[in-house]
Amino acid sequence: MTSLLDELRAQLPDVRVLHDPADTEAFRFDETAYMRAGRPLAVLFPRSTADVQRIAQLAGAAGVPIVARGAGTGLSGGAVAVEGTLTVSFTQMNSILEIDPANLTASVQPGVINADLNAAVAGNGLFYPPDPASFEMCTIGGNLAENSGGLRCVKYGVTRDWVLGLEVVLADGSVIRTGGKNVKDVAGFDLTSLFVGSEGTLGLITEATLRLLPLPPPKLTLICFFAAVRDAGEAVARITAAGVVPVTLELMDAFTIAAVDDMHQLGLDRSAGAMLMVESDLGGVAAEAELATAEAACTAAGATSIVRAANTQEADWLRQARRAAHGSLERAGVARMDDVGVPRSRIPEMLEQIERIAGANDLRVGVFGHAGDGNLHPTYIVERDDPTAEARIDSARDGIYRAALELGGTITGEHGTGLAKKPWLELQRGARAVEVMRAIKQALDPDGLLNPGKVL
Ligand SMILES: Cc1cc2nc3c(=O)[nH]c(=O)nc-3n(C[C@H](O)[C@H](O)[C@H](O)COP(=O)(O)OP(=O)(O)OC[C@H]3O[C@@H](n4cnc5c(N)ncnc54)[C@H](O)[C@@H]3O)c2cc1C
Repeated sequence: MTSLLDELRAQLPDVRVLHDPADTEAFRFDETAYMRAGRPLAVLFPRSTADVQRIAQLAGAAGVPIVARGAGTGLSGGAVAVEGTLTVSFTQMNSILEIDPANLTASVQPGVINADLNAAVAGNGLFYPPDPASFEMCTIGGNLAENSGGLRCVKYGVTRDWVLGLEVVLADGSVIRTGGKNVKDVAGFDLTSLFVGSEGTLGLITEATLRLLPLPPPKLTLICFFAAVRDAGEAVARITAAGVVPVTLELMDAFTIAAVDDMHQLGLDRSAGAMLMVESDLGGVAAEAELATAEAACTAAGATSIVRAANTQEADWLRQARRAAHGSLERAGVARMDDVGVPRSRIPEMLEQIERIAGANDLRVGVFGHAGDGNLHPTYIVERDDPTAEARIDSARDGIYRAALELGGTITGEHGTGLAKKPWLELQRGARAVEVMRAIKQALDPDGLLNPGKVL
């Protein structure tokens, strides 16, 4: 194995290579720290597509697989290291190559941090809608590989909806481009969509052309409190049925409200069973009208109190607090964030099922999430040294995934399959569909060199 490292160092003198286990340790895990991780042979930091190509060629010749890595904020184990393989970190490929206002596009390397892209395009009066709650840490490459969602999906959709083309290094070291700046382009199969969400298993994304929009007006923000979490779920269903498409429709249950308020001292109603945050970015009277309709739906669903953010700063605090829900829950114990989705009208039933299943497994659970997308994050809280915790969480997870599927939902709305959801993939998609996925993997990566053991 040292010969592969020698070869890499000799042929790529400008690429940083970490080999010492003390140095590679920080690159073994993602945010699923509970996953079993191997020890990588080395961690590499390419700077260009040519570097990535050369790494793929040399690794392929030596039969050593590659695990792609962005910022390591993933929540399904996609970037977790595999024993004896190369972890390729894209953090040094972090240039915004072009912002093109005439075509409303940006071309970026994969290591660009989501928040940095938005800050850069805002200078041109533009914005890039996908914004995972981790937007200040996660990379565009990770967002693409996970097809990430975020807090603006109700209105703007997920990452896949904002990608026009990719540059991808394949397992054999060849490079392809799947699209460019064309808004409409239907030549051949849609390879862009295939690579988006493929979790580093089909190719290494080295560049992306992304769609942008003109920056919308500042948001108007509404906070609604409910006596019971089911009432908040009912409000989501009513808002959706009323034809309102707010930019944000986020939910927090009582446990999460208390954790967030403890941490951020926002004066939230701690006696409430649940809270919804509804935002409009339509601006002016249109925003007022949108929030009035949402308010009426919340009242009809039994809201106990409704408040408007007094100004944009207060709205920013509330949004930041929602983004920090997971971090706030971590102060209550070890917090394991999960991810399920259901059709939006089934949210009240899913919330009841989560409560029931957590209770049956003697687990404390905080629930928050992108309720407007039907996407919930039940977060299990356990004591650090509890020997029974793992088994109880596993049992709850299985029950919650099966309940989501029975409601016509999904085992993962946005965090991906990775290692965490792999055992349930066939249950959701069916054996034949998984066979089709394996056939695609076999066609693109016949020697299993890209992120082995993940997803399939
Ligand atoms: C507090 C917190 C909040 C979060 N909120 C959200 C949220 O609101 N919505 C959401 O969807 N997710 C959320 N996440 C999950 C996570 O941030 C996203 O999945 C994010 O897109 C991962 O990006 P990353 O750069 O950290 O990727 P990593 O975790 O490093 O990698 C993720 C996957 O992408 C692959 N990959 C990375 N770069 C490339 C590349 N260049 N080519 C090919 N494959 C690549 C890896 O192999 C891996 O499979 C949250 C995570 C945390 C910790």
